[in-house]
Order: sequence, then structure tokens, then C-alpha cells
Amino acid sequence: MSTNKALMQRRSNAIPRGVGQIHPVFAARAENCRVWDVEGREYLDFAGGIAVLNTGHLHPEVVSAVEEQLKKLSHTCFQVLAYEPYLELCETLNQKVPGDFPKKTLLVTTGSEAVENAVKIARAATKRNGTIAFTGAYHGRTHYTLSLTGKVNPYSAGMGLMPGHVYRALYPCALHGISDDDAIASIHRIFKNDAAPEDIAAIVIEPVQGEGGFYATSPAFMQRLRDLCDEHGIMLIADEVQSGAGRTGTFFAMEQMGVAADITTFAKSIAGGFPLAGVTGRAEVMDAIAPGGLGGTYAGSPIACAAALAVIKVFEQEDLLGKANKLGNTLREGLLAIAEKHSEIGDVRGLGAMIAIELFEEGDHQKPNAALTAQIVARARDKGLILLSCGPYHNVLRILVPLTVEEAQLQQGLAIIAACFDEAKQ
Ligand code: PMP
Repeated sequence: MSTNKALMQRRSNAIPRGVGQIHPVFAARAENCRVWDVEGREYLDFAGGIAVLNTGHLHPEVVSAVEEQLKKLSHTCFQVLAYEPYLELCETLNQKVPGDFPKKTLLVTTGSEAVENAVKIARAATKRNGTIAFTGAYHGRTHYTLSLTGKVNPYSAGMGLMPGHVYRALYPCALHGISDDDAIASIHRIFKNDAAPEDIAAIVIEPVQGEGGFYATSPAFMQRLRDLCDEHGIMLIADEVQSGAGRTGTFFAMEQMGVAADITTFAKSIAGGFPLAGVTGRAEVMDAIAPGGLGGTYAGSPIACAAALAVIKVFEQEDLLGKANKLGNTLREGLLAIAEKHSEIGDVRGLGAMIAIELFEEGDHQKPNAALTAQIVARARDKGLILLSCGPYHNVLRILVPLTVEEAQLQQGLAIIAACFDEAKQ
């Protein structure tokens, strides 16, 4: 039998250290929200492969759709010979993505690629080349998305400066002293000091920041951003790679913001564990790039499209949006109960089931507690619960449990988190 220790040793010899790993565990198999490692140990998965498994590991409907597709064809390259699942999925997303206007959709493979393409499309549509992104943002690991990402270490550290014409605005976050007014003022400051609005193609924003710490913008802020974009002919790009596919209790978080983005990116949970991402936007904007300017060899793989169509069906059949809202309430209540006993938990927040807690020394919001956060993540793993941290100070614990989790498993996970906090103090 392989052991985690032996495999970790082989890993460090064979794979560059830049590919980090949060838990020193090799997974062997998984089902819904449980994972078994190579040693046969069982874990509850509250990480969902970083927001990919809203429908759980290997949902039977997704597996059967993929099996059916595998009997037909696995690859032609959509730009060579088209296939129906790609088309059907784009038609479905044109309906599902918020915005009361005609839309078109492009499929790609990863979230980074989706954001890259969204910006390319905005540049072509506006004939401008500046982009505004936010502090704490995470948009990917490709060259341009690293420019957009608002955190140098570890993502672009040691690689020199990233491509230019990206300007950084403040993401509104009341907990850390950034009001909506401050955030809007920071954009006006960019217009005044760095780049005229008529040189800005797009403002890219996560309606709920993922890696940045699960901070949600308010509908009022999003309205102000929309107004600014309308005033200056700037494309508003909503990066819903992490917040989309039902996590926040609506299929897209922007549905709760009262305004629509011109361009939306999605990935992760959209295809229930298969690599698929995409860009949906105003039809005329999406058509700004000439034939041949968009696509990719594997972009919109038939297998992944079949999986995504099944995921969307499962959301309807199992009322997963209703479940996300219920799950969010249960998590919030459970975490608030733990916070009552542990003043280190300075905030319990989130939208729908995109829930996180933020840890501080003695509850002082000036003193992020990364050490305790790392300790809770490690302790939880030892007790059979897989958790993830995030946030600019590594002091946020985020919950990305499948929306299909059973109540008993959810309570078991919360009990493990509570026990970890109790023990961390002993
Ligand atoms: N945007 C957001 C909001 C994300 O959370 C992520 C991934 N964490 C990405 C883009 C990049 O996606 P990928 O890792 O699939 O390239």
C-alpha cells in the first residue's frame, strides 16, 4: 500500500515546489462530500477542491452524463467540428447569466483563461487597453490575470513585474476600514492620477471575493460601479469563477446585486469536477473579436459540457439553490455559536453558502491571526475534516462544502471545528 508520507517524498522529487499543497494527503477516491486517502482514512470534504464541487464528488447524474458522452465522442475541437453539448450549454448560460439583453457565451477550460478572454473581449469592444482591478482580488495564475490579482506573495513573487495598464482600486470591506465611498474614491483617483476613463476598457470585480477572504460587495456599491461604467463606456466584468454556480444561493451572485455585468466569467462548480470555464456577455460585445480570435484546442470539451449540463439539471431536480440558502443559515448559526465561546473569531460572514470566519488575536481587528488559522486547518484534518483558509492575511477559514451535504455530516463538521477551537486553547 502507498503511504501519504512516501508519496509526498516522491512528489517533492518529481514536482516543482511552486505547486503548493495544503494538506499532505493523497486522495484515492471520493463520494459526495467524503474523500478517502491512499491509506484508507476517511475525511469530510469542506473544501470541495476549491469551490468546484457544489454538486459533490461524482454526483451520479454527472457521472452518467459523462459516461453517455464518452460512448459518443471525447474530442473533435469545437473550432474544427462542432458538437451539440457545447451549443446547448451556451444557450442555457445565455439564459441563466443575469442581464436583460441578448447574450453570447464562449467556453474555455480554466477560470484564468475565462478572465483572460473576458478582458481581451472588453479591449476589442472598447478599443481601449486599461483595466481596473481590486485589492485582494484573485483572478488566476496566467500572466495577465496575475496583473489583475491583488496579492503578490505567493502568486507572482520572484517573477518580476506583470503586464501593464492594470490599475488597482480599493475593494470595499467595512471590517478592514474600507467603505463604499473609499472604494469609489479610489477609482476616481485612478482616473485623475493614472489613466483617463476613456482609456479604461474594463473594471473587473468579484461580487464576493474568493481567495481574498469571502468579502461580499453590497448591491448599493455594485450600482455605483455600474453607473461609473455606464458614464464612461467601461465594461463591467463580474468574475463569478468562485461565487457562481449556485454557491451564494442564486446561480450567480450578481443576481443579488440588482444590476448586471456586461461580461461574466464562470468556471469551477459549473461542471461538477470536470475542467470547464467560460465567458458570457452582451452579444454585440462578445462579437467584437473576429473569427479565429477566440477558442482553444480543448476549450469546451464535450465531456465537460455534458457534465455542466448535468450539473444544471441537478440544481433544478434537487433544489440546490434552496439547499444553499438553508445550508448557509445552518453554517452561520453553527459558526456564530462557536464564535460566542471564542473571541478569536472576529467575524462570521458570507452570502448564501459562501461562508467564512475571520480570526484575530483577542478579537482585535488590527491583529489577524494566521497562526491560529493554520493550526485549526491542521487540527481539523487530523480529526478527519478538510478545510481551507484564505484572505490577505491568511486568517480566514472558508467553507466550501458540497451543497448536497447530508445534515448529519454538516453537524459533524461543525462539531470538529468547535473541538479544534476548544483544543487550540488548551
Ligand atoms: N477567478 C476567481 C474568482 C477564482 O477564485 C479563481 C480560482 N481560485 C480563478 C479566477 C482562476 O481559476 P483557475 O484556477 O481555474 O484558473
